[in-house]
Amino acid sequence: MKNQDKTGPDAMTSPWVRLAASAVHGTGLYATKAIAEGTRVIEYVGEKITKAESDRRDKARQERQEGGEDGCVYLFELNKRYDLDGDVEWNTARLSNHSCAPNCETEHVRGHIWISALRDILEGAELSYDYGFDWENWKDHLCRCGTPSCLGYIVKKDQWKKVKKAIKAEAKEAKRKAKAERETASKGQRKQKEKKPT
Ligand SMILES: [Zn+2]
Repeated sequence: MKNQDKTGPDAMTSPWVRLAASAVHGTGLYATKAIAEGTRVIEYVGEKITKAESDRRDKARQERQEGGEDGCVYLFELNKRYDLDGDVEWNTARLSNHSCAPNCETEHVRGHIWISALRDILEGAELSYDYGFDWENWKDHLCRCGTPSCLGYIVKKDQWKKVKKAIKAEAKEAKRKAKAERETASKGQRKQKEKKPT
């Protein structure tokens, strides 16, 4: 087997976190012990890049996504000039899954991004946060978080209303189309019957 090129620093670790296969998606982060609300669990690290570079990477990501590839978002705003690209091997926190009822959140602390506990977390629980995706391309990111309130898509909480409305509108439109098709079909049948010589 080929040795992997190690270009970055060692993977970020935290006494609160261990990695394990996740029922939600891929590898997830799990609490090694009980975590109190407000604890900074693990730092979300990455490459510090300029806004221009960030825009360029985001555009490339969108193009990948339009081509049917994974278009995960790992870009965080650090300040007016710099963003953080967390899509690097050493950023262990990138493995944290999204949840519709997350137990963690991302917190901006003096130029650093942390994954912090939103509430008390039990030992062994999977750590999750709201990815905060915009609702615009809501269909691109299915959610399998398995929580009772799961929206079915990875979209930031304050935009759920818009997605729910869109889902309803689509269901209504599908119903209308199906009805119209049924009507056309039965009309067609009637016409055929009329045409038949008696
Ligand atoms: Zn969900």
